Amino acid sequence: MLILGSHVGFNNKDGLLGSVEEALSYNANTFMFYTGPAQSTIRSKINEEKTYEGYKLMAENNINNDNVIVHAPYIVNLANRNQEDKFNFYIDFLKEELNRINNLGFNKMVLHPGSAVNVSREDGIKNIIDGLNKVLDNDNNVTILLETMAGKGNELGVNINEIKTIIDGVKYKDKIAVCIDTCHLNDSGIDINKLDDYLDEFDKIIGINKIKCVHINDSMNPISSHKDRHQNIGYGTIGFDALCNVVYNKRLEGIPMILETPWVNRNTSEEYPPYKQEIENFRNKKFIDFIQ
Ligand code: FE
Ligand code: FE
Ligand code: ZN
Repeated sequence: MLILGSHVGFNNKDGLLGSVEEALSYNANTFMFYTGPAQSTIRSKINEEKTYEGYKLMAENNINNDNVIVHAPYIVNLANRNQEDKFNFYIDFLKEELNRINNLGFNKMVLHPGSAVNVSREDGIKNIIDGLNKVLDNDNNVTILLETMAGKGNELGVNINEIKTIIDGVKYKDKIAVCIDTCHLNDSGIDINKLDDYLDEFDKIIGINKIKCVHINDSMNPISSHKDRHQNIGYGTIGFDALCNVVYNKRLEGIPMILETPWVNRNTSEEYPPYKQEIENFRNKKFIDFIQ
């Protein structure tokens, strides 16, 4: 069975219930959300009543909490340690975030490994390892999924070996895993048409069982562009057929697949989410052009 959904909103008023309702409106059977703004570390108290109602609705619709993903905010960067208080702030934030996720009953948090700003790539990776060992030193059930990155700017975690180096340095091996992203892979230089070659290499170096989430995005830019601009499914350089083959790849069966494609007509009065149509196209294995 496909485990397929998209990122959805989450706010204090509607809480988890609002996120589940949004996911169901796309006919999704999983979803991903940020516990607050994606761009900041500001977080408000979780509405517990709405969490309870959200779980009821998940159960009624067979959404398994093991398949729900939380994404950490983008601005967290464990690679730079030039300002120790900032590094410590991110450590504390991530610890709180893991507790928040644990209290919500979920167990997977996607994290962008970091960016080597004013630091060598080697030291950046050392700092990330150090940070992760501090963050994971707790007694909750949440696994951190390192996301493979496009290589924009000084991003770290761009290839299998960088991810492998980080995992090797982490003490709590059962709390660290990987999220692959088709747009990021394409932009980093991986041909999505040959995903099986990539999975072979991943399996040899890290072990394919470490892949716990797949972000399904088309890309606005050609292979190896190091840009990271997501495009709607079938409207980018990867294309519908290649992405459909990822969704149905037998080696990725049972892993949550999450769309992070842009809303159509974003920031206009005509904006709408593409996810219902994108999910339907994948389920039917047939591309229907839905953007006018
Ligand atoms: Fe991400
Ligand atoms: Fe992603
Ligand atoms: Zn991206």
